[in-house]
Amino acid sequence: MKRFDAHCHLQDKRLARQLPRIIQTWNSSGGGFLVSCGTQEADWEDLIAIAGKADTVLPCFGVHPWYVNTLSSGWEETLGHCLGRIPSGVGEIGLDFTTDAPDRQLQEAVFITQLTMAQALRLPVSIHIRKAWDSFIRILKQVGPLAGGGLIHSFSGSGDMVPLFERHNLYISFSGAVTNPHNKKAGKALKAVSPDRLLMETDSPDLLPRLPVPAKDKINTPANLLVIAEASANILKIPTKSLVQQTFDNGTRLFNQLINPN
Ligand SMILES: [Zn+2]
Repeated sequence: MKRFDAHCHLQDKRLARQLPRIIQTWNSSGGGFLVSCGTQEADWEDLIAIAGKADTVLPCFGVHPWYVNTLSSGWEETLGHCLGRIPSGVGEIGLDFTTDAPDRQLQEAVFITQLTMAQALRLPVSIHIRKAWDSFIRILKQVGPLAGGGLIHSFSGSGDMVPLFERHNLYISFSGAVTNPHNKKAGKALKAVSPDRLLMETDSPDLLPRLPVPAKDKINTPANLLVIAEASANILKIPTKSLVQQTFDNGTRLFNQLINPN
C-alpha cells in the first residue's frame, strides 16, 4: 500500500550509492511519496537532480539550524531561485538550542527569513525544533498560522503543545523515536495529535529505529517507515494499515502542490 515518508534526506552522501535501489524498492513495495529536505546551500542542486528523475520524491529547500554558519552572501536569492525552479516546499529549517549548535540569534534570524518566505509563497514548511520551544512559539505567534501549512519533524515536544501547533496549521510528524518503548513522552504526544494532523517519517539516513534485525551499517532508509508505523499503531491501538492510510492522506493533503497530477 502507498506510504508517505514526511521527512528524509535522500541527497545525503551516505545514501548516494544505494539511492537508485532505495527508490526502486520504495516504488515496487507499494509506492507513495518521500519528502526529501535540503539542509544547506551545498545540497540543493543534488536534490533538484534527484527530484527531477523521480516523481516519488517531493523536494524541500532550506537551511538547517546546524548550518547557519555556512551561508553565502546571496543565499536568500539562491533559495528563492530553487523554490521557483520546481514544485517544492521550504525545509529543513528551525531552531536547535542543544549545546554545540550555532549562535541562537543567528539561528532565529535565518529561521524567520525562511519562514517569512514560505508564508509569502504559501509553501509547506518542514520544521526542526530541539530544546527551543519557547522561542519557536514566540516566533510562530508573530508569523501567524502557516499559509501553506507545515510540519514539525521528529516531534520531541510535549502533548500539551499540540493543540496550539494544530491551530497554526501545523502537522506533527513522528520518527523512529516511537520504536523505543522507554520513550513515554513520544507515545503521549502521539496520542495528543488529531488523526488528520498526524504524519510519519524516517529522517533517513539518520534516526535509525529499533529494528527486529539491527542494520549493520547504522544507515536508516525509507523502507523502515513501516517499522515506525507499526510501533505508532500499537501505541494508538489502531491497525497499522489504517495509520499508513491516514498518514498518506495527510501527507498528500499538506504537500498537494508538490505532487505531479499525472
Ligand atoms: Zn532531518
